[in-house]
Amino acid sequence: MKRLEIRIKGIVQGVGFRPFIYTLANRYSLKGFVLNDNEGVKIEIEGEDFLIEKFLKNLQDEAPPLSKIEKIIIQELPLVNYTDFTIKPSAGKTEKFVLISPDIATCEECLKELFDPQDRRYRYPFINCTNCGPRFTIIMDIPYDRERTTMKDFTMCERCRAEYEDPSSRRFHAQPNCCPQCGPHLEIMDHTGNIIKADDPIQKICEFLHEGKIVAIKGLGGFHLACDAQNHQAVSTLRKRKGREEKPFAVMAKDIDTVKSFCRLNEVEEKLLLSEKRPIVLLRKKDPDPLAPGVAPNQRYHGVMLPYTPLHHLILQESGLILVMTSGNLCEEPICFKNEEALSRLGGIADYFLMHNRDIYMRCDDSVSRCFNGKEMILRRSRGYVPDPIKLPFKSDVHILACGAELKNTFCVIREDYAFLSHHIGDLENLETLVAFKKGIEHFKKLFSIDPVVVAHDMHPEYLSTKYARELPIKQVPVQHHHAHIVSCMVDNGITGKVIGVAFDGLGYGSDGKLWGGEFLVADFANFKRVAHFKYIPMPGGVKAIVEPWRMAFSYLYDIYGDQIFDLGIDFVREIDRGLCNALLALIKKGINSPLTSSAGRLFDGVSALLGIRRNISYEGQAAIELEMLAEEGYTGRYNYELENQNSKIIINPAKIFQGIINDLNQKVKTSVISAKFHNTIAEIICEVVLKIASEYGLKRVVLSGGVFQNMVLLKTAVDKLHEMNFEVYTHNRVPPNDGGISLGQAVIAAQLMKTGNEL
Ligand code: ZN
Ligand code: ZN
Ligand code: FE
Repeated sequence: MKRLEIRIKGIVQGVGFRPFIYTLANRYSLKGFVLNDNEGVKIEIEGEDFLIEKFLKNLQDEAPPLSKIEKIIIQELPLVNYTDFTIKPSAGKTEKFVLISPDIATCEECLKELFDPQDRRYRYPFINCTNCGPRFTIIMDIPYDRERTTMKDFTMCERCRAEYEDPSSRRFHAQPNCCPQCGPHLEIMDHTGNIIKADDPIQKICEFLHEGKIVAIKGLGGFHLACDAQNHQAVSTLRKRKGREEKPFAVMAKDIDTVKSFCRLNEVEEKLLLSEKRPIVLLRKKDPDPLAPGVAPNQRYHGVMLPYTPLHHLILQESGLILVMTSGNLCEEPICFKNEEALSRLGGIADYFLMHNRDIYMRCDDSVSRCFNGKEMILRRSRGYVPDPIKLPFKSDVHILACGAELKNTFCVIREDYAFLSHHIGDLENLETLVAFKKGIEHFKKLFSIDPVVVAHDMHPEYLSTKYARELPIKQVPVQHHHAHIVSCMVDNGITGKVIGVAFDGLGYGSDGKLWGGEFLVADFANFKRVAHFKYIPMPGGVKAIVEPWRMAFSYLYDIYGDQIFDLGIDFVREIDRGLCNALLALIKKGINSPLTSSAGRLFDGVSALLGIRRNISYEGQAAIELEMLAEEGYTGRYNYELENQNSKIIINPAKIFQGIINDLNQKVKTSVISAKFHNTIAEIICEVVLKIASEYGLKRVVLSGGVFQNMVLLKTAVDKLHEMNFEVYTHNRVPPNDGGISLGQAVIAAQLMKTGNEL
């Protein structure tokens, strides 16, 4: 006989771990107890040695599907002669912390019950169990128990309580467990908040959707705005009311077969769609596209997801529609997640609201993902993924907070060897997003018992995230934006040491005060050296040049042709407003409001505008995205370019690219061919510059990061070529390549700095 204390760390709470242990202990007639505490799960067992052996073996082999055991610590204790095995109440707060499960899509077993007329939860939109349902979005505090979730106000009925207490039930200690008798309910309202009586709210909502109405549907992490994706009128009305002109809408389809009716997908994409995380997956459209053209205009891809809550399953199943499911917000504001707030903010958009009374505590947008080279490449890491930690290759001695960038903001906290990258906060440009940012930070500090002594932030003095960091009374570590990009990708791939980092994005504040964005770095976690970049070009009008890419085209051309620009016999020059150009020229010549940039993103913008694809944009990255979408596939030609040496740095001068494009324009070469040649050229530049750096520094690992690498045409061409040249190439997988990954890089750089004591 012996008695062991077993401590298990990892994702072991809210995933059916205690009933699993209970059943296992009983199988081997072991006595003792199991409980959740702030460190994970604590077990004491007493019994015959060989039975304990079996228990320990099966503990690992049979662990519940959603659990993740990271560490098991075993200690032998003197016998106390327990008489039975029990599940004890959670132990209170200590200094330690536990991992928290993300929200999980409805499982197969719950789905069966949902559509079983004999089941007591038949068509009940809040069905869940230990293996599925809301988690992160309803947890208010730790440890994870019903009283600290937004289900606290619903008292379980007798039958639910019995399941909850029965270790053999698959709802044993399922904290959000409920049924039609005791749980939340649906309610329909019109856009002014008047309740619309309906015997069957789901049927009623399906009728509205069939009529082409726009319905706000309360989901897991916030509201969606939904309409029939095949109804042109409904889709364009939604665009108009939401103030979202062209940015693609995500759609939800009831099952894989339906998805296959309008998109092409491979095995990896199918697996991603079906995963319990249920991200929006970018999939190639079929031709002809049966969805309304307004769903994803000028795109090769649809953003598609499958239902992930019982409510979605019911609506999709019973309506038989493919639905637009776009986040419930006004252009650029955070997603709505509270009932009253939704009514006031979305009242002008939605005709009807499908409400319910289970509160969302933490808003959480849908995640967006795609497949690259047979692997996932996440673009927005949020619902379903957060707050799963990212394991670091080292342990931090102190707690660290990193505030992220401005666009697609996330923050990140580090303790020990865990980095908790937050859900998508949004563009930190307005008060509402800032409030969500601050609230999110406080919540993470509480959830993971984090008390940061260091805050990392971007070097850009005007970012709201920087300003927030600078007001904290703790050590501040400014981190260069592109260094953070590269480090985020290194951590994503689990690599350390020195690498060649290629960071291409829209803009990031440089160490010289200029706006970087086409950067080649030699970097490790602690330091970086900028070894090559695109030539500096003025951005006439500053941020205006971002939303008006024609300004960039003009600036590049002026840099090459000077005042002769007006003699170029191309449409771009003929069609631009001469008065505006003169104003722009004055800015450039005097250097007023024309910050210098080396951005690759701006270069793509400039080319897009020059080709007449997109002179002004209505969403971030639009000009570059539409340029990519046009690129003729399989075309191998390219343009010339020049590499210059300046103070032992390589400067990439794109003048010859523009000259080549203008030549092609004069020869009436197709835009799709010009776009392909341009993409090939940028890939070629990456390879040639990387090769030069590699031979000088003796490095062979190349890390590609930054928003520009969301461009699949560029990424694929560059990666293939680098592989041919025998480089080890690292791209993003679990962390976004865009600014959504910045906070992770910042946090790791600051943690490294605290370890080594080296100031950057
Ligand atoms: Zn379930
Ligand atoms: Zn009940
Ligand atoms: Fe960036």
